[in-house]
Amino acid sequence: MPDTAELERLRVTASTCTLCPLAEGRTQVVFGVGDPAADLLFVGEGPGREEDLAGEPFVGRSGKLLDRLMWEEIGLTRAECYIANVVKCRPPNNRDPAPNEIEACRPYLTAQIALIEPKVIVTLGNFSTKLLLESSRGIRELRGQVFERGDALLVPTYHPAYALRAGGEAMAEMRADFVRAKRLLGAATA
Ligand code: URA
Repeated sequence: MPDTAELERLRVTASTCTLCPLAEGRTQVVFGVGDPAADLLFVGEGPGREEDLAGEPFVGRSGKLLDRLMWEEIGLTRAECYIANVVKCRPPNNRDPAPNEIEACRPYLTAQIALIEPKVIVTLGNFSTKLLLESSRGIRELRGQVFERGDALLVPTYHPAYALRAGGEAMAEMRADFVRAKRLLGAATA
């Protein structure tokens, strides 16, 4: 059973976090959204401008694509999954999160995973994939495969922003990764 109360305590703790310099520029901490009992967890990179304002992950263009693929390929809405990011505060000017920021924020994601206990984790892009697999290999090399991470199976895929830019083949590969996640989810919950 997921520890919903502990997850809420963690959210409240994170909401005033000053462990890294991103705290200075944020509007609010974007902790995560969805069902604390979800079997499926998506992990992105970090909030952008729209997420910083809304306080919710993936509400901009990338989020619309994530919602669409989630529905079309897995048959789930964001309320039925859980969505989190590697860093919970917006890096300024949409720059990449820095190693010290990722490291400072890491315990929050580790605790989210421990409390939610997802059966399948889909990592969106390089940052979450490298962090959760403790790998230096890039997403192009890793996607298309399934990895074990503790009690969960991890499916690396592209970041939706990349698929939006690249289109065509990347979009098809991302859809295939979502179908892979659906199959694993079905097998894990059968
Ligand atoms: N990109 C991310 O990685 N996360 C978000 O929440 C939004 C855009």
